[in-house]
Amino acid sequence: MDELDGGIRRITLPLPTRPGHVHAYLLPGEDGWTLVDTGVGLPEAKELWAVELEHAGGRVATIFVTHFHPDHVGAAADLHELTGAPVVQGSLDYAQCELVWGNPAWSERLVDWFELHGAPDDVTAELVGQSSVYRPFIRYQRDPLLVEAGEHVDGWELVAAPGHADGQLCLLKDGVLVAADHLLGRITPTVGLWPASRPDPLGDYLAALDRTIELAPRIALPGHGDPVADPVARAHELKEHHRARLAEATSSLGSEPKSGYELSFALFGSELPPPGRRFACAETLSHLELRVHEGAAQRDGADGAVTYTAA
Ligand SMILES: [Zn+2]
Repeated sequence: MDELDGGIRRITLPLPTRPGHVHAYLLPGEDGWTLVDTGVGLPEAKELWAVELEHAGGRVATIFVTHFHPDHVGAAADLHELTGAPVVQGSLDYAQCELVWGNPAWSERLVDWFELHGAPDDVTAELVGQSSVYRPFIRYQRDPLLVEAGEHVDGWELVAAPGHADGQLCLLKDGVLVAADHLLGRITPTVGLWPASRPDPLGDYLAALDRTIELAPRIALPGHGDPVADPVARAHELKEHHRARLAEATSSLGSEPKSGYELSFALFGSELPPPGRRFACAETLSHLELRVHEGAAQRDGADGAVTYTAA
């Protein structure tokens, strides 16, 4: 556990896949800690948390989940059992959490979706693999307290940060942004198009970065990696990164229809292992869809296969 400015504590939890760790934060409040994010619900999660919380001292007043990805929501039910504190989660995010983790048929839906976007039959299972790996280790809390952006949790304003996850919420107080996976220091947060996600996640993300620039937090505390010392500069960098990739997306299009899967090789190279390809494919699609929204690309959905051409 690390002590940060303002009495905030950071707890770093193991993550079996890259980047190998995830941070949770304890935010001090009058009634106790607001605990932000929970790590994956690995078999030893509860014991690990018991030790960390003993170490921190005091009581946990609220468990806040920023978004429904396994490394953030996974041990929410464990923590609720351990502390008795209510779990608080954004309403859109909880709806997607139920849709994905409460639905045993989700993996099949993902297989269909990759097929729709041009992945060959023999690779779809591999592409879906990673999400099924985590499934047994996701113990989200059913019927949490639902909140919306703009509301407050123990004096922290909830800021909508869609893109990496549609319903992701950050927390902001006194220039400190608890950023979850909206803003990471060295890693570029993945922004992908997934089944049942909002239609233009990259457009949402770029707008959320503009909002970050407007809010101009002094420091951002991310879900992975070191604190971001200049969040505004980092938001500009991430915008640049996506603008460059959007330009590549446009130049990879021509008059011949190509699938998102096919185009992911042009944008992300051919050397990726299946989990990498899975995200490359979703990211390629988010870039293509923004281009479609801007009128620079065209989507064609005939014959149960989605393809893109230059507009
Ligand atoms: Zn994460």
